[in-house]
Amino acid sequence: MGKADFKKYKSIAIMGGAFDPPHFGHFVTAQTVYDSFDVDKVIIMPLGDAPHKANSRTKAEDRYNMVLAGIDDNAAFDISDMEINRKGKTYTVDTIAEIKKINPELKIYFVIGADEAKMLDTWHEPERLLKMCSFIAVSRPGFDRNELIKIVDEVRKKYCCDIHYIDVPALDISSSDLREKISEGKSIKYLVPDKTEKYINEHNLYRRCN
Ligand code: ATP
Ligand code: MG
Repeated sequence: MGKADFKKYKSIAIMGGAFDPPHFGHFVTAQTVYDSFDVDKVIIMPLGDAPHKANSRTKAEDRYNMVLAGIDDNAAFDISDMEINRKGKTYTVDTIAEIKKINPELKIYFVIGADEAKMLDTWHEPERLLKMCSFIAVSRPGFDRNELIKIVDEVRKKYCCDIHYIDVPALDISSSDLREKISEGKSIKYLVPDKTEKYINEHNLYRRCN
């Protein structure tokens, strides 16, 4: 429930994403990973600002604070600003390399939702990345479970890598839907943690005219 210090762990799972805003689909995924794998912490790592796409994402400081508010006092999670602080384009492969430099012995799992798993082949340097850390692909409503398991098996064979599949409680929530709901003045109660909702309200995020 604090800021990640990569030197102090033996084993972690990293969950990356825009978290614009974070929701219970993210947190239940992180908790399920924590409960299913032998890791010291799940590290939630928001992406940095897109340098050439002005206004395309809520600013990193707010996304970081919304995640922090959602983690609250859960000792299973830490948060990292490593990608937020990196200048220019961020690739997962660079992030993992940077963490490995800080702690070469660290066992790293990288968590991806079904939508991301389908795209893994198109990531930057997939071969190098899949050799550097293990992957955990998780189910997500709207994505066929059997197809995902097949993709995971194919990736494992193709790259000879350590990739796992787990089912997580199916919460059909997405940040895009939440942004739309807020802009239409609809409630997001029971979809995001109370403290995240409070932060959104206090900072007037996602409203149509602000
Ligand atoms: P957006 O609609 O803006 O893309 P999102 O809800 O997909 O937002 P991201 O920040 O893009 O959220 O996702 C971060 C990670 O969490 C990704 O790996 C994504 O697949 C996973 N994820 C997001 N929502 C869920 C969910 N409801 N169940 C399982 N995994 C999820
Ligand atoms: Mg997404």
